[in-house]
Amino acid sequence: MTVRARREPPRFRHVTVRGVEPVSRRMVRVTLAGPDLAGFTVDEPAASVRLLIPSPGSRELVVPRWNGNEFLLPDGRRPALRAFTPRRVDATALELDLDVVIHDGGVASEWAASAEAGDVAAVSGPGRGYAVDRDAPAFLLAGDETAVPAMSQLLETLPAETQVHVLVEVAHPDARFALPDHPRATIEWHDRPPGAPPGDALVRAVSEATLVAGTRVWAAGEAAAVQRIRRQLFEDRGLPRPQATVRGYWKHGRSGGTEDDG
Ligand SMILES: Cc1cc2nc3c(=O)[nH]c(=O)nc-3n(C[C@H](O)[C@H](O)[C@H](O)COP(=O)(O)OP(=O)(O)OC[C@H]3O[C@@H](n4cnc5c(N)ncnc54)[C@H](O)[C@@H]3O)c2cc1C
Repeated sequence: MTVRARREPPRFRHVTVRGVEPVSRRMVRVTLAGPDLAGFTVDEPAASVRLLIPSPGSRELVVPRWNGNEFLLPDGRRPALRAFTPRRVDATALELDLDVVIHDGGVASEWAASAEAGDVAAVSGPGRGYAVDRDAPAFLLAGDETAVPAMSQLLETLPAETQVHVLVEVAHPDARFALPDHPRATIEWHDRPPGAPPGDALVRAVSEATLVAGTRVWAAGEAAAVQRIRRQLFEDRGLPRPQATVRGYWKHGRSGGTEDDG
């Protein structure tokens, strides 16, 4: 019998919004700040934090209680808690930037789109990031808009001499913006055709990408799409599993993201 260790409740750090700026027509950068960020560090790219925001219709932040397995509000409802990539941490200014995709019907998306300086929130984490193999001959990075903050960090981190092929699926051409420079990176933007399921264009692009021996693959996006990418890489193309990290970042039709939050 497997006995699961009782997980410790993550600690919430209280923050307020210091600023909000557009990154593209479909993404905003929310800068969070506050003394509670003292000691908050992120050592690896593509890590995660969990952002707690007021429930829809409220401006007040209620910190949920941990029942040993999940967080619940005092009235039994699930809190508005979503995973994001800690895009920039400034340990001196005690600031944390999150780049949030603006999409229809999202609690966090709506919050970010209308956030103003002084709004309250809290963050927990960080959750696990990506350990870069600096000796790998090449990297393939593939993701949708939610993965762009993590892929941007990877471009900033990967060795300058290593070949990097980046595939990004966008739901709308307006989502394109300049990614960080990397001397050996090629970046391909793929528009999702109207009506196609999320990730369709990305799955096709990954299937057509060249994988030289030893290529490391990092991919993230909609859960069903990345499942197709896993099958393609491991079953169809025989990529050794340790060479790939493939993460579901959100689930089509389900509020609250995925369980894969670090
Ligand atoms: C480790 C990790 C890191 C992540 N990093 C980022 C990040 O840096 N930036 C970022 O924006 N997201 C990131 N995500 C994804 C984010 O957590 C989810 O997209 C989350 O569902 C957004 O919450 P929401 O409240 O806006 O929408 P929800 O209330 O969770 O969902 C409402 C509806 O919108 C749909 N939906 C959710 N996300 C999208 C989307 N992007 N496009 C279209 N429809 C969507 C859902 O399927 C659902 O039907 C990350 C997820 C993980 C696990």
